[in-house]
Amino acid sequence: MNVEQVYKDANALLDGHFLLASGNHSSRYLQSAKVMEYPKKAALLTDALAKMIHDARIDVDTVCAPAIGGLLTGYELARSLDVRSIFVEKDGEGGMVLRRGFEIAQGEKVIICEDIITTGGSALKAAKAIESLGGEVVAFASLANRGFCKRVGGNDTAKAECALPEGTPLFALDDFTFEMYAPEDCPLCKEGKSEAVKPGSKS
Ligand code: ZN
Repeated sequence: MNVEQVYKDANALLDGHFLLASGNHSSRYLQSAKVMEYPKKAALLTDALAKMIHDARIDVDTVCAPAIGGLLTGYELARSLDVRSIFVEKDGEGGMVLRRGFEIAQGEKVIICEDIITTGGSALKAAKAIESLGGEVVAFASLANRGFCKRVGGNDTAKAECALPEGTPLFALDDFTFEMYAPEDCPLCKEGKSEAVKPGSKS
């Protein structure tokens, strides 16, 4: 499956001047919400992801997504894997928490699912929330990997910025590596023609 083409076809591979969650700037952005707009197309992506997880013989009880970004991908992946779907949300203190009556059994095998793994910061917070309740995080999954972390079957090695634990596999359909800049080094800022915008916040 050509994941880049799937994003292009959905107008989800954006060109511009973007402020990322990490505080860095970039000229490109993956708007996964656009890819997930059509559930039957979304299911093709998560079916492929589920196949990778199945082929690796990962035993899983539950998919947990960090809200909001991972919600749709996590839900569809749970459907593809035929397991339970839950989500964690921001606790207001920089972490993630399980609310809404969701429960985790001792030793329950959980995959943390995001739309995109950049450095994996949110995914790691979700994993900590699950582990603090006695769950076991058996893998991470995302539609796309931004190239900081190493995915199963990918060529790149993990970079220092990757927040995910080394011993837990990351499954993603493809690597998308494009430049990110610290604000003070951003060539688009230096050009002075535009300001970095948070994707999806204005349109
Ligand atoms: Zn900039």
